[in-house]
This record gives sequence, structure tokens and C-alpha cells, in this order.
Amino acid sequence: MEPRITKIGFKPIGRRWIAARIGMTLPELFSLGLRAKDVCAKLPHDWLVFDPKVSETDVSAAYNGWRSTQRKVAALAGHERRRSGKGPRPCMCCKKTFKSEGSHNRICRYCTGRAAATYDPW
Ligand SMILES: [Zn+2]
Repeated sequence: MEPRITKIGFKPIGRRWIAARIGMTLPELFSLGLRAKDVCAKLPHDWLVFDPKVSETDVSAAYNGWRSTQRKVAALAGHERRRSGKGPRPCMCCKKTFKSEGSHNRICRYCTGRAAATYDPW
């Protein structure tokens, strides 16, 4: 069972803690921008109580797991961006980086224009 907050026994100060609510899980707290040490700092004196009870080790393990998931998600998003072909890519002609409109678009506007200008069927 995933530990959830059952008690917030301190005055939440700061924009991250102010969003903390009873019933939240550790990953939900991390998503607010709180780090393992922020959460651990509230564990003594029952300022922050979880059910089931968590130790500092549990919090750092959960934080490390959450961070690696975030990194995977970010890496996947970056991969998808590259696959779509949109965004900066080097021109096949002049090798300068330009903002491509998609995978069909591999030559920069300058080179496209130059190619059209020099094309003379006669
Ligand atoms: Zn070019």
C-alpha cells in the first residue's frame, strides 16, 4: 500500500508546501517541487504523518524512484520531438541549422530559393 499523508501538523509555508493535502502520496508531493530532504525535515515531531508510516530511507528511496521516472518521461518526450522531425535540423545543402517544418523539409529556405533561381531548363 502506498503511503499517504494522514496529518499535516505544521503551518504550510511557501508555494510548494501550501499545495500539500491530506491523502497525497510521496510522488504527488515531489511533483509539487518538494525534495526528499524537504519531506524528511517534516517527519520528526509528527509534523507530517503518513499511513503507513515512512522513514527517511523510505522517502529517499521513493524520491530516487520518482526522479528516475521523471528522467525517463523527459527522455521519451525528447525522443518523440526528434522523431516528429520538427524543429532545428542541419540543411542537407549548406549544413547550416534551420527550423525545419517536418521530415519532408531538409533543405533550408535559402538553399531552396537558390536552387529555384539557378534552375534554367534552357
Ligand atoms: Zn541550406
